[in-house]
Amino acid sequence: MKISNKYAEVFIDIKALNISHPFDYRIPVNLSSEISTGLIVRVPFKNRFETGYVIKTKDKSELNEKEIKNIKEVLSKKPVFDSKKLELITWISRYYIQPFGSAARLFIPPGEKCKRSSARTGVKFVFKDYLSLNNNKYKECRGGINWKKNYSKKKIIDYLTSNGEVVKEKLIEDVGCSYANVRFLIESGIITVRKERQKRDFKYEYGENKNKKRINLNPYQKSALQAIENVLDKDVFHKILIEGVTGSGKTDIYIAACRKVLNNNRRALVLTPEISLIPQLFSRFQSEFKERVCVYHSNMNVAERYERWLDIWDGRFDIVIGTRSSIFTPLSNTGIIIIDEEHDPSYKEGTAVRYNTGEVAIKMGEILNIPVVMGSATPGIVTRYKAETEKDFTLVKIPVKAQSSSPLEMRMIDLRSVDHRKEDTIITGELFKEIKSELAKNNKVIIFLNRRGYSNFVICSKCGNVPKCPACDLPYNYHRDTGKLVCHHCGREIVYTGKCDKCGSNSLVLYGTGIQKVQSKLEERFKEVPVLRMDSDVTVKKKSHQEILKKFISPGGSILIGTQMIAKGLDVGDVTLVGIINSDSMMGLPDYHMNERAYQLITQVSGRAGRTSKKGKVIIQTYNPDSMVMKNVLGNDYESFYKQELENRRELKYPPFSYLINIIISGKSEEKVKEDIRELTLRLKDAVGENSSMLGPAPAPFSKINKFYRWHLMIKAGNWDTLNDRISEILKGFKKNNENKIILDINPVWIL
Ligand code: ADP
Ligand code: ZN
Ligand code: ZN
Repeated sequence: MKISNKYAEVFIDIKALNISHPFDYRIPVNLSSEISTGLIVRVPFKNRFETGYVIKTKDKSELNEKEIKNIKEVLSKKPVFDSKKLELITWISRYYIQPFGSAARLFIPPGEKCKRSSARTGVKFVFKDYLSLNNNKYKECRGGINWKKNYSKKKIIDYLTSNGEVVKEKLIEDVGCSYANVRFLIESGIITVRKERQKRDFKYEYGENKNKKRINLNPYQKSALQAIENVLDKDVFHKILIEGVTGSGKTDIYIAACRKVLNNNRRALVLTPEISLIPQLFSRFQSEFKERVCVYHSNMNVAERYERWLDIWDGRFDIVIGTRSSIFTPLSNTGIIIIDEEHDPSYKEGTAVRYNTGEVAIKMGEILNIPVVMGSATPGIVTRYKAETEKDFTLVKIPVKAQSSSPLEMRMIDLRSVDHRKEDTIITGELFKEIKSELAKNNKVIIFLNRRGYSNFVICSKCGNVPKCPACDLPYNYHRDTGKLVCHHCGREIVYTGKCDKCGSNSLVLYGTGIQKVQSKLEERFKEVPVLRMDSDVTVKKKSHQEILKKFISPGGSILIGTQMIAKGLDVGDVTLVGIINSDSMMGLPDYHMNERAYQLITQVSGRAGRTSKKGKVIIQTYNPDSMVMKNVLGNDYESFYKQELENRRELKYPPFSYLINIIISGKSEEKVKEDIRELTLRLKDAVGENSSMLGPAPAPFSKINKFYRWHLMIKAGNWDTLNDRISEILKGFKKNNENKIILDINPVWIL
């Protein structure tokens, strides 16, 4: 006799770290055939009911029979994870120190919220009728119908006999019959109807689908593809980094790799950091893979995402292209994960479980034994370092563009030599002249302004020096109320005198430029052309993004001023000049990533110029033309930048030479926030051990957001795999002030 499973281990979905283990529940007889790993269930917990995830079924429990409660009901029709996904969920929960439920929730269908009804999501599915002949019924009725009189009906039956199951609309069209005839046959049972939910195209999939001819890969691309194919043939986990300059044809390598994966009857996941990059990528994939490819991202509404989720679940697509959350879609039989623009900070989730998509993808690749391919023109320092040092990581470099074009002209304007009293330092005379000359030729100009930049730092207008904390090598933050410069990492502070510690002049100034100010300046000077602005303030309205672009693209000269939003993917032909006006603001970020971000961003923005046969020019205004970043940007030398930046990091033990853990406590009372952070610091001190160190506590770089005070402390850990459990234990036992919140950020991409 088969022993049926009587008990289930269930993880309760509540946001508490101290419930880090599953509970045993009894499977009632009426549910015994339904319960399996990965199902969402409802169970009694304390004095209420809670949602939980079944992670295992078993026929014995260690617990006393009397203590075990029954599972109340099953909430999901299908398991939302299998044993492999369970392994990934468990890893996420442990690595990022998050309750199991929070990690599991990433994998459940959007909007389902553990409820059985799909009505709550507002989804209106489209069903179609699939018709087939019920042979038995037909034989039974055949004699009783006058087929001469019912000639059309006979034609329908003949059609179904020779074609098998067919969708209703097609049958009516092919046979040329009326619906009444079909209905009659349905009602008499001769035709059987099967309803099937239809796959829908969403407006996001508006690719041009030009049916581009298949490209013959050049030798560089071929060797990258070869590296991927070697792994695909072996069915093993392996990482591949394609470091290819902008325009080196990485997309065509991805496409060729996917072709191979699909030929092996497996599926592919293609990740991209930004929604704005999806249309281009999608249309290129679509011209090759047609309806086998779909998109998935957070800008789709919940109903659309839910429907798409079900389609992926049903195996209707072989390639999913999407932003970070698509790593959690239920794609099965995945054979490759591709991460385009690997370095992009948007791959980091900034709320709830603060995961890095790259880290999750790599873990997933490891669990599934498949390759993970990353591509970038400017790889993240950590990724690049790993690609060089880890055994299961291959680095492939592509140093040339796939299509020849004239090289960009890059130039710096040294702001130190601009006389503040005579000349504007926001748009210098030299930049002004260049803009004017391009507009006169009916060309387009992009003015880039970094907004992520941080205005609370000071810079010497004589020598470009940004005063930094000697211990952290990060800019001080200026505090107007106390007149002090404070390091927001370690808390060190010095009195602000206005005097530069490097050149001795009294030329320290508070740094900062507003985008509106830039716009009005340009409008004043260039009255005859459209001066457009694109930043998150003007694009909150739906579609305004498209409208602004449309105006910019329309024939004739125009100027577009933008923030990070325009750095990526913008592909406008006639842009011949890109001006970067406040490049130093990136240097003022109190974040050890600043060099990396500045290098990546400037390279990316520069790539907006000279995309056609017209020569492109990039002009960078800076107080620091001699800085390591600027020199390497100008020389377009990633390799040299990487080597120097790596040494900076080695010296101060920043990643990749450590893992960084940022612990933020936020709350409305600054006193209570400080009280908690001090107490937590004390408790963590011993746990951190020899190989690791602690920084802080200090006010977080954004020390007050929306009435909430924020203090943080950071741990530079030698090895996170051993430290995380210890920290997790301490956090579980830590009694904070009730109104305070603890935010954990493992490997943060911004320390703000
Ligand atoms: P990347 O993603 O590396 O920046 P893309 O994949 O966008 O570069 O390729 C840039 C352009 O080069 C595209 O228009 C692409 O069609 C073209 N291209 C790619 N590979 C080749 C090739 N082998 N021969 C000619 N053109 C190519
Ligand atoms: Zn100075
Ligand atoms: Zn410091």
